Amino acid sequence: MYDQNNIFAKILRGDIACQKIAEDKHFLSFHDVHPKAPTHALVIPKGSYENAHDFTTHASEEEIVGFWKGVNTTVTTLNLTQDGYRLIANTGPHSRQEVPHFHVHILGGHDLGPKMVMS
Ligand code: AMP
Repeated sequence: MYDQNNIFAKILRGDIACQKIAEDKHFLSFHDVHPKAPTHALVIPKGSYENAHDFTTHASEEEIVGFWKGVNTTVTTLNLTQDGYRLIANTGPHSRQEVPHFHVHILGGHDLGPKMVMS
């Protein structure tokens, strides 16, 4: 059951401010408040989806394409295409997902090392 009071739902409603990077009708991207790399952005869909599985199962094809184009727009805006970046989508308890609104982390700005963990 999607929690309408999660922090990203509040950001989408405008109840809480964010450091916005890009936005259109399908997505919003903003800087992570506790960055784990020189560049650490989050991309969220506008629809109410709890995690990657919920999003991919229930979102329309238009929403899914719009979201991933939003990831690409954000990567381009942050000038990460040349040196590269890492995408992470924590999903569910074993991933330790903290915020129950689907989001993709974009990490970059230096060599991220061989590990898949963020810290
Ligand atoms: P996850 O563990 O994948 O759910 O990650 C949630 C991320 O949201 C963490 O990296 C937090 O630092 C970040 N975060 C939490 N609250 C905010 C906020 N108000 N603005 C920006 N980032 C946030």
